[in-house]
Amino acid sequence: MSVNSLSSSVPRSSGRIARPKIDSITLAILTALYLIAFTNRTFFSRAFEYFDNHLALLAFSFGLTCLFAALAIAFSVKYLIKPVLILMILSAASAAWFMDQFGAIIDVNMIRNAAITTSSEAGHLITPAFLLHMAVFGILPSLLVCWVKVQHRNFLAKLRWNLTAIVPLVLIGIACGISSARSIASVTRIHKDLILTFNPLLPIGNAVGFVLASEADRNIVAAPLGTDAKVAGPTPSGKPRVLVIVTGETARAENFSLGGYGRETNPELKKRDITYFSQVSSCGTATAVSVPCMFSNLKRSGYSHRAGLASENLLDVLGHAGITTEWWENNTGSQNVANRTVMRSFSNANDPRFCKSNECLDDAMIDQLDTWLSNIKGDSVLVLHQLGSHGPAYYQRYTPEFARFTPECSTAEIGNCDRQSVVNTYDNTILYTDHILASVIDKLKARENSIDPAMIYMSDHGESLGENGLYLHGAPYIIAPSQQTHVPFVLWQGAEMKASVDAGCLTKRAGEEASHDNLFHTALGMMAVKTSVYTPQLDVLSACRTPASGANS
Ligand SMILES: [Zn+2]
Repeated sequence: MSVNSLSSSVPRSSGRIARPKIDSITLAILTALYLIAFTNRTFFSRAFEYFDNHLALLAFSFGLTCLFAALAIAFSVKYLIKPVLILMILSAASAAWFMDQFGAIIDVNMIRNAAITTSSEAGHLITPAFLLHMAVFGILPSLLVCWVKVQHRNFLAKLRWNLTAIVPLVLIGIACGISSARSIASVTRIHKDLILTFNPLLPIGNAVGFVLASEADRNIVAAPLGTDAKVAGPTPSGKPRVLVIVTGETARAENFSLGGYGRETNPELKKRDITYFSQVSSCGTATAVSVPCMFSNLKRSGYSHRAGLASENLLDVLGHAGITTEWWENNTGSQNVANRTVMRSFSNANDPRFCKSNECLDDAMIDQLDTWLSNIKGDSVLVLHQLGSHGPAYYQRYTPEFARFTPECSTAEIGNCDRQSVVNTYDNTILYTDHILASVIDKLKARENSIDPAMIYMSDHGESLGENGLYLHGAPYIIAPSQQTHVPFVLWQGAEMKASVDAGCLTKRAGEEASHDNLFHTALGMMAVKTSVYTPQLDVLSACRTPASGANS
C-alpha cells in the first residue's frame, strides 16, 4: 500500500466520513517521519551547530531516520501498533516542549526529579501554551492514529512484509553510519548532549530505565553509618550546640552579590558577620540528586541514587551521637534523607499569611523557629529545606516588598518574558532568601546567652536563566553550565564557636574550592562529633580550629 492510499481511501458514505484504512507499515513509517520532523527541533538545531561536515550531518540524520522507522515497523503488529505509536507521539510532544522551551535534557535524573515534583510545582509548568502545544503536536496526531483502520496481514505474511521493510532500512542506517563514522564519532564524543535530545527514543528509554531502577531500589535498606559517633564533650560554656542547616533551592552563586554579582542581592547578609564560600560546586543539577548527595558521606564521584539509599546519612550519624535532629520541609520532600528523623512539612501548611495554592513562602518556617529554639534541650541540628528560588514561577517566591528589581516576569511562561525581566524576578528570589537567612541568624544570635549557635546555608544546585538558550536546571552534570553547578555556601557562627576558629585562616579557606562533599564532615565537626566516618580534610573548618577549642580538628 502506498502513502497516497491514506487520502485515496477516505470515501464518504451516508453523510459520515468512513475511517480510512492504512497498512500497518505505512502507518509506522508516517508516524516515524512525523516524529522526526516535528518533535526534534532541538536535536536538529544542535546537530547543525555541532557538525562541520554537512555531508556527515546528512548521513547521520538520514541513517537515524531509517533506524527509527525500522524500530517503529518492528512494533507494527496487531494490538501493539496503536498504543506504541501513541505513546511515542505523546512522549515526544511533551519532551519536545521542555527541550525546545527550556533546553532541558530528559535523562534519568530529570525524570526522577519530575517524579518527585509536587503537583503545585508541576502546575507551574502546565501552562496554556504547553496545553496548546500538546493539543496540536500530541493529541491531534494521536487521535488520527486512533481513527484510522489498520490493515494487518496474517502472522507469517506480516513477518515477511515487516522484515522486507526493516532489513533494508537497518542496512541503509548502518551504511550511513559507516560512511561518516569518523565525523559522527567525534561529534557525539565531544557533544554528549546531542544524542540525549533525540526524540522520543531517549526520553522513553530513560523513563523505562527510571521505572526499572525504582523497582530495583524499592527494597534497599539503609546500612548503619557512624554508629560509633559521640559528642567529644560539652562546649566551654556548657551551652548546647545548635546548628541550623538551610538547604537552599535553585540559588546560583553567580547572582549572589556576596560573590561579586554586580547587583546588591545580599543586602542583609552582608551586614551580618558571615563567611561566604565563593568557589563551591554542587553534587548534582537537580534536587533529587543534590539533596541526598549533600547529606551523604559519599563524595560526588562515588554518589549514585542507589548508593545514597543504601546508607544512612548525616542526620543518622548525628542521631547516633545523641544529637536531636529535625527536618522542616518546604520543598518536594527530603529525598529519603529524613526517613529516620522527625519531619515537619510546611508546604501544605495552609497558613494564609504565607501560603497560596498549596505552596508556602519560606517565611512559614521562620515563623516557627522561635518556638523550636525555646524548646532546645541539648545539642540539636535543624534542617530547613527551602522552596527558595524554584522556577519557573519565580514571581511567586517572594513577598511584594522584595520586588525590587523591575520589571518582573509575572508568569510561569518565562519564554514569553524578555531575559532581563526573568533575571530581575530571579534576583528578587535571591533577595528574599537573603532575608530568610538573615532572619535565621538574627533569631539564633538573640539566644546566644542560652545556646552556642551556627548556621550553614548551601544551595542544592543553580539555575540557567537563558544563557545559551538554556532555562531552569537538571542538565546532565557532564555538560551542565556553571550556572547550574556553582552554588552559594554561607557560614555563620555565634561568638562561642567563632572564638574557636582562626578568622584569617577561615577567610583564606572560603576563597578556595569547596563542594557538597564538605557538608557532611563540616557539620559533624561543628557539632564536635567524633566518629570513624568523619574526615577532617573534608571539614572546611578543621584546619582553622584553634587547638584549645575542644572541637574536632
Ligand atoms: Zn532543587
